[in-house]
Amino acid sequence: MISEITRLKGVGPAIATKLARIGITQISDLLFHLPLRYQDRTHITPIGQLVPGRDVVIEGEILTSQIRFGRRRTLVVTVGDGSGFLLLRFFHFNKGQQSALSSGRWVRCFGAVRFTQAGVEMAHPEYQPISEDEPLPLQTTLTPIYPTTEGLNQQRLRQFSQQALQLLERGVVIDELLPPSVIDRFALPPLVEALREIHQPGPEVSVEQLIERSHPAQKRLIFEELLAHQIAIRQLRAQAQTNPAVVIEPAPELHGRFIQQLPFTLTDAQQRVISEIESDLNRDIPMQRLIQGDVGSGKTVVAAAAALQTINAGFQCAVMAPTELLANQHIQSLRDWLEPLGINTVILTGKKGAAERRELLRQIAEGEAQLVVGTHALFQDGVEFARLGLSIIDEQHRFGVHQRLALLQKGDSHQANEARAHQLVMTATPIPRTLAMTAYADLDLSIIDELPKGRQPIKTVVLKEERRIEVIERIRAACSEGRQSYWVCPLVEESEQLQCQAAELTYEQLQQQLPELKVGLIHGRMKSELKERVMGQFKAGLIQLLVATTVIEVGVDVPNATLMVIENSERLGLAQLHQLRGRVGRGKDQSHCLLLYKGPLSANGQDRLEVMRESNDGFVIAQRDLEIRGPGEILGTRQTGIVSYRIADIMRDQQWLEQINPLADEFIQLWPENSARLIERWLGSEAENYKSV
Ligand code: ADP
Ligand code: MG
Repeated sequence: MISEITRLKGVGPAIATKLARIGITQISDLLFHLPLRYQDRTHITPIGQLVPGRDVVIEGEILTSQIRFGRRRTLVVTVGDGSGFLLLRFFHFNKGQQSALSSGRWVRCFGAVRFTQAGVEMAHPEYQPISEDEPLPLQTTLTPIYPTTEGLNQQRLRQFSQQALQLLERGVVIDELLPPSVIDRFALPPLVEALREIHQPGPEVSVEQLIERSHPAQKRLIFEELLAHQIAIRQLRAQAQTNPAVVIEPAPELHGRFIQQLPFTLTDAQQRVISEIESDLNRDIPMQRLIQGDVGSGKTVVAAAAALQTINAGFQCAVMAPTELLANQHIQSLRDWLEPLGINTVILTGKKGAAERRELLRQIAEGEAQLVVGTHALFQDGVEFARLGLSIIDEQHRFGVHQRLALLQKGDSHQANEARAHQLVMTATPIPRTLAMTAYADLDLSIIDELPKGRQPIKTVVLKEERRIEVIERIRAACSEGRQSYWVCPLVEESEQLQCQAAELTYEQLQQQLPELKVGLIHGRMKSELKERVMGQFKAGLIQLLVATTVIEVGVDVPNATLMVIENSERLGLAQLHQLRGRVGRGKDQSHCLLLYKGPLSANGQDRLEVMRESNDGFVIAQRDLEIRGPGEILGTRQTGIVSYRIADIMRDQQWLEQINPLADEFIQLWPENSARLIERWLGSEAENYKSV
C-alpha cells in the first residue's frame, strides 16, 4: 500500500531525504524500523537497589561536588537519596553545569550504573534539576532507541513512529500477511498489536525481555522475517534450477590417475564429498553445493577432482578466491596436480598488464584455458567463457551472499552456451549443520568432518606480551631445526595503514633480534607482485620467519610452518583466531601457536583465549564463542556472507527455523501473493538481489 512519508506532521523534503537514508520512504517502513534497544524511564530506582549495567532513573540530593585533577579534569558529584550514595562523573563540563550540580541541589539522573572501587557510579548521566515540592512527570512507556542517521535525533524519530502508530490504529497502513490459520498454529499475536508493543511498550513490559528479543511481540516479527527469508531463498533455488545444466560424466580412469599421483591418500571424508559432487555434476540440474570443512581439512584437492571431471568432459572450470594471495596459491597446487594430466591452467587477476590480459581473455573465450583461477576479476565484464561447466568459489565467507549470487550469475551469462554451469562453494566457517542448512538453504551441504591422517593437534599457549623474549627464542629454536614460523600483527588500529606500519616495525625489530634468520614481511598494502614473491620465497623455504598482517588469514598453505605467534590476540574474534591458527598444523610435525596478549585481560577475554587453548575444533570454538559473546557476531555478514536480518538472529532463533522451514514450502504453495509481499516487506531492496539471479 502506497502512503507517502511526507503525509506525517513534521516531515518535509529535508527530513524525508534523511529518512530515506535509513531506508524509510513509506509510513509502513517507519513501523518496520525497529528499536535497537529500550530505556526504562518509567520509574525511579532507589540508589540502594541499583544493579550494575542497567540504565536507570534515580533522584536525590547533591551532597558533595568537586573538581578532581588527575589524569583528566573530572567533576565528581555525590548524590544521596536516603537509601544509598551514587557518584556522578563528568569529564566535560562548563561553569553552568558545574553550578547546576553544586551541593544542596536536587537532581534527576538517567544513565548506566557501574560498580567501581570508588563505589556505585554513573558517567555522564543525563540530568535535570528538580525541586522537592514539584515532582517531574515520568515516562509512561519504555523509551525505544532507534537506529538513526546524522541530523535525525531519537526524539524526532520517536514522534514519527508515534504518528505512524496512530495511523496504524486506524487500520490504514499495514496489512496482516499471515493467514489466521498460521497465526493460530504458532500462537502469534496479531501484527498490529505486535508493532504497538514494540514501538510503545508499556511500563509493565520487562526491558530484559525486550533486550533479549524474547517478548511475544518481537517473536511475531522474528517469525515473519525468518519466513520471508526462507521463502526468498527457496524461490532463488527454484529459479536457479529452471534452466538445465550441462551434464558432466564421471571420468573414473582419469580420476584414478589423479589420486595415484597425489603425494597423500585422500581421507574418507574427502572421498565421500568427491563422489557426492561426481553424481551432482552428472545430472542436468545445476549443482548448488556447499562444502564445509574446517581449516586444513583439505578442500582444495576436492575442488581439483571436481575440476578434473568437468574438464575431461570438455568444459571449463573457474575457481574464484577472495584474495590474490590465495588465488596464487591455488594455481600452484592445482598446477602441480593437474598439469601432469595434460590440463591447461591459467590465472587471471586484476593486476595483469593489458596485453597479457587480452591474451588470457582470448584463451578463456576460445576454450583453450581449461582451468581458470582468479579473484572476483574473474567475472568482470570482458571475461567470457567458451564452455563454462563448473564455478568454484573458495572461502565463501569472505564474499557476501549477494556477491556470490551475482558472481555466479555473471559466470553463467558470460558464456556462449545456454545451459547453466554447476556451482560449488567452499567455506571453513564452522557453523552447526542445522544452521548451515538454513543459512545456506539455497545450497546442498557436504561436510568434510575429518582431518588428514597423521595431523597432530596444534598446541596453543597463551602468553603475556612481556614474555616476548621467550617467544623470540622459541622462533630461533624452531627455525634452527629447519621449520618455519609466522608472526602475525593483527588489526589493532582501525586503519589498514597503521596495521601495516605496525607490521613493518615488528619486521625491523625481529630482523635485529634474529640476525641469523631470513625474515620476510607481507601486508595488504604491498604491490601484488611483491606479495607473490614473498609468499613464493616462504613456500620455498627461503624465508624462515614471515611477519604478516591478517592478509594470511585465509587459505595460505605452507606445511613446513609449525610455529605461529599472534600478537594482540585478545583483540581478535575466536573465528578469526581459529582461521589464523589454521595456517600451522598442516604437516605431520607438531605445531605450536603462541597467543600474545596485552594485560590485564577481562574475564571475558580470559575465557576466550582459554577456549583457543583448549580446542582445535572449529565447531566447538564457534559454539563457545556464541556462549561467551552472544549471537550476532559469529554470523555477522562479514564472516559468513549471510544476509543481515533486522530483528531475527539465526543463531539465537535456531529453534524457530525448524518450524519455519516446512512452513515456507507451504506458504509458497498456498499463499503465493502473500509470499511475494512478505519478501517485499522484509527484504525490500535486498530482494532485488535474490530476484536478479
Ligand atoms: P583447506 O581445507 O583449509 O582449504 P587445504 O586444501 O589447503 O585445506 O589443505 C591443507 C593441506 O593438507 C594442504 O597442504 C594439502 O595438500 C594437504 N592435504 C589435503 N588432503 C590431504 C590428505 N588427505 N592427506 C594429507 N594431506 C592432505
Ligand atoms: Mg582452503
